[in-house]
Amino acid sequence: MDFKQYITIVPNWPNSGIIFKDITTLMGNGEAYKAATDEIVKYAKKKKIDIIVGPEARGFIIGCPVAYALGVGFAPVRKEGKLPREVIKVDYSLEYSKDVLTMHKDAIKPGQRVLITDDLLATGGTIEATIKLVEQLGGIVVSTAFLIELSDLNGREKLEGYDVFTLMKY
Ligand code: 5GP
Repeated sequence: MDFKQYITIVPNWPNSGIIFKDITTLMGNGEAYKAATDEIVKYAKKKKIDIIVGPEARGFIIGCPVAYALGVGFAPVRKEGKLPREVIKVDYSLEYSKDVLTMHKDAIKPGQRVLITDDLLATGGTIEATIKLVEQLGGIVVSTAFLIELSDLNGREKLEGYDVFTLMKY
């Protein structure tokens, strides 16, 4: 399937100069959303995954249907103050600011094989922070999977040594 036809390009959003890739039009089409999910499931089946981890909010949109299809669990990564029990934290840099991501301390058991999902790989900062959380808990990051990769931003370089699967490149 040509997945790009379902992505809407939104110039100058959220800031002037940014060309946003809107995945909601892919999600809104049942056939395309299922086909994209199936591609990631097919890939993940080869990797013997125990649990999927995804950052809020679009990492859930990609990861949860894959977890359902594989019959494995899903552990959310959230901004500080959102998870109700004991968490571990990691600081990470955004383009013009800093933020904190958290995970429940018991979300992953040591030695579990983890697939990390998100909608889009840009600089790789979000996934690098997510990898730190998973590894702090003793999880093995077997692979990362995204719908979209923005090749010019070199996220793959930041994730060197990790397996990266993407459906579309811009
Ligand atoms: P990174 O941390 O790799 O620089 O940025 C990736 C994160 O920013 C992802 O969590 C993604 O949801 C969000 N993001 C950045 N640009 C876009 C975009 O054009 N479209 C979408 N859907 N998400 C974006």
